[in-house]
Amino acid sequence: MNSQDKIIDLRSDTVTKPGEAMRRVMATAPVGDDVYGDDPTVNRLEAMTAELLGFEASAFATSGTQANLIGILAHCQRGDEYIVGQTAHTFAHEAGGAAVFGSVQPQPIEFELDSTLDLNKVAAKIKPDDFHFARTRLFCLENTHNGQALPRPYLTDAGNFARAHGLKFHLDGARLINAAVAQGVEAAELTRPFDSSTLCLSKGLGAPVGSLLCGDREFIHEAKKWRKMAGGGMRQAGILAAAGIYALENNIDRLAEDHALAEKLAGHLKKFAAKNFQVGEAQTNMVFVQMDGQRSLELADFLGKHGVLVNPGAEFRLVTHLDVTAADIDYFVQLLEEFFQAD
Ligand SMILES: *Cc1c(COP(=O)(O)O)cnc(C)c1O
Repeated sequence: MNSQDKIIDLRSDTVTKPGEAMRRVMATAPVGDDVYGDDPTVNRLEAMTAELLGFEASAFATSGTQANLIGILAHCQRGDEYIVGQTAHTFAHEAGGAAVFGSVQPQPIEFELDSTLDLNKVAAKIKPDDFHFARTRLFCLENTHNGQALPRPYLTDAGNFARAHGLKFHLDGARLINAAVAQGVEAAELTRPFDSSTLCLSKGLGAPVGSLLCGDREFIHEAKKWRKMAGGGMRQAGILAAAGIYALENNIDRLAEDHALAEKLAGHLKKFAAKNFQVGEAQTNMVFVQMDGQRSLELADFLGKHGVLVNPGAEFRLVTHLDVTAADIDYFVQLLEEFFQAD
């Protein structure tokens, strides 16, 4: 077991648990009924996030999935289409919600290696105005995607492209702040080309629950109707929003530590690089490794016995976050040494 007898969880940055200080602000947050618009803490979080991301307004949602869903439903009508990356969360990991709840058809497109969507490939999939086709209405990107921060000039080009084609432009910004910290820019710089953006509080920012959808006032008004319909009208949600405010006030700059730790981890893992174990460059707070799928199950089993959790697979990610320390990474690397010695 490691020195602190602690579980080191490298599966995701969603696993962080609120610390004492965050729990204190939650316990003492002023609250009201947010369905009446009466919760001062939710109102404050929504105003703070809208300002941070450079939009007029925002809506506090139960999850990133719900925030993306109500965003797509507010942009699109039944029978419309959204263009989205093949492995994007909004297409591949949200249980088909836009199609199920909104009758909005996805048009997936393979990502390029840098997590952009090739605008020529996107253009080729925009449907002509003809009753045979769904009406292409929305273009979605994801930043970060697989930990990769999208190149800034691309965001500008993609925004101009969307406008030129009369498409609305939505960002799944679950880990947008990781991108902003990694590129040393304000989050609002990265969202400027977009009509709407989400942000997850429950990833690297360390809050237990919650995401926001941002956009102009009219759009957020519409999205709040969909949020209500999707069961996301919460009452004294200020207890949760308080954790989000704490996260925005305290946990943004420290994301740089997670990125540095991921880089350190990638550097160490290169030592084990071999035909059956390949390591990518660190991307913000993630390192991707590739290995034989069966061997990865054995590795996960071995690590699990020593208090370290990973999601095994032929390709899997190791994720740093505010509950992972430099000592934890050293301990993890030491375990890998033991594991690979047996080879
Ligand atoms: C985590 C995540 C979401 C939202 O996930 P929830 O678990 O529903 O909060 C959306 N997009 C991306 C890229 C994500 O990583």
